[in-house]
Amino acid sequence: MKRLNCPNCGKPTKWKGNPFRPFCSEKCKLADLSKWLNEEYKVEEEIVVQEETDSGS
Ligand SMILES: [Zn+2]
Repeated sequence: MKRLNCPNCGKPTKWKGNPFRPFCSEKCKLADLSKWLNEEYKVEEEIVVQEETDSGS
């Protein structure tokens, strides 16, 4: 049987029959997703600032 640890909290995670895999629960899945989305927003903000600086000069 396949076993792995939750990427968010590091607890052993059930693989079979787990709709939130590879996470242990919905909470960890959402926590990791929001963390990932926050990083995406940061990258987009940096790109916008750079574009504004380039067109201004
Ligand atoms: Zn977890």
